[in-house]
Amino acid sequence: MTDTNAAPTAHVPVVIVGAGPAGLTVGNILRAAGVDCVVLETETREFIEQRPRAGVIEEWCVRGLERRGLADTLLERAQRHTECEFRFGGRRHRLRYVDLTGRHHYVYPQPWLVTDLVREYADVRGGDVRFSVRDVRLHGLDTDRPSVSYLCPDTGERRTIRCDFVAGCDGARGVTRAALPPERLRVARHDYGVGWLALLAEAPASSDCVVFGIHPRGFAGHMARSSEVTRYYLEVPRGDDPDTWSHDRVWAELQERLASDAPPLTEGRLIEKRVLDMHNYVVEPMVFGRLFLAGDAAHLTAPIAAKGMNLALHDAFHLGDGLVAHLTRGDDSGLRTYSEACLARVWDCQEFSLWLSEIYHGTSSGDPYRAATTLARLRRVFTSPAAATAFAEQFLGPRPD
Ligand code: FAD
Repeated sequence: MTDTNAAPTAHVPVVIVGAGPAGLTVGNILRAAGVDCVVLETETREFIEQRPRAGVIEEWCVRGLERRGLADTLLERAQRHTECEFRFGGRRHRLRYVDLTGRHHYVYPQPWLVTDLVREYADVRGGDVRFSVRDVRLHGLDTDRPSVSYLCPDTGERRTIRCDFVAGCDGARGVTRAALPPERLRVARHDYGVGWLALLAEAPASSDCVVFGIHPRGFAGHMARSSEVTRYYLEVPRGDDPDTWSHDRVWAELQERLASDAPPLTEGRLIEKRVLDMHNYVVEPMVFGRLFLAGDAAHLTAPIAAKGMNLALHDAFHLGDGLVAHLTRGDDSGLRTYSEACLARVWDCQEFSLWLSEIYHGTSSGDPYRAATTLARLRRVFTSPAAATAFAEQFLGPRPD
């Protein structure tokens, strides 16, 4: 349903800002319980259904989607991955995490998941989503009568929606985080001091699993997305200009950093090429008055350990369930413990990202001490079953309920 009729909505229990994985999952949980909500999104539906980003989803997360009736298509189309590979010293080192944990990863491109979630929310469950809105503002968050206003894309008029709760799911560049008064929150930030050139290639995967290239010239990563598209990463200096990375330069560097006794990578046209400034942040608490932040709006984890979307969905499950419990049964427990429950998982992933980042970036740091300890860390993972299991547990996330 789109915002074409002239009358502004008087009141809905929940306004959700942002139609990413977090916002759409919260919306779906609310609609399934018969709770009304409005999702506000600055982009068009076509845009969010095509925006490429994540691809690796943890098993517990898929089970969480499945329990909420949101994983039918994913379960039909997703690949199942049971191992990963590190390449260093010109050799391949496989880690069969399924043997260590009994668990696997799903590979399912984020735009496919967003497409499934928006279809279920808007077309199946009859949810109200307003695309292309402008200048979203939050009001009265520390009162019992908050509201959210925005400029209607068709008329340019400001419309106001009164509500009981606001879900801030508008990602790293949204507006909801800025509505928290600075004196009421702590923002913890970590900069990795490197950039990653994030690439999407029109080429089939060159390996049946995720590959991490640990190389003195810098990290390189290979991650399957679909049968036609593969994601690659190259560590580059922070702020590097993606235009200096020609097709030939990218492939030469990838071939070199991922070189092993395996056949060379299958090359293809580069359809995405952008430099990510690798940093993390965490906002604490994730709640102010009637505003609940979820996903990248509250915490960012650079794609080092492929955790961001998984954490966004973890928040969304807690927030959706907590809102339903409060609004339908007067049970406050979920909302009261929301921030604490999410942050415990968030910090666990932050710590793992830091640990893994040292493996990825140590050998290229130019510091012989860091380079040697990185290799010691890697050797330990491949010689100690206990160390391998500890890695696998963190990499795969928690055991599904
Ligand atoms: P978003 O997906 O950012 O959604 C927020 C939505 O809010 C967007 O649609 C945006 O348009 C909208 N919005 C913004 N501002 C406003 C506003 N003012 N008003 C209304 N709407 C607004 N994570 C993984 O778990 N696994 C991976 O393999 C992985 N790979 C990644 C690879 C790359 C290259 C990148 C960049 C990220 C990757 N991530 C991965 C992270 C993952 O993509 C994010 O963590 C995830 O998108 C967060 O979801 P979200 O719903 O919180 O935010």
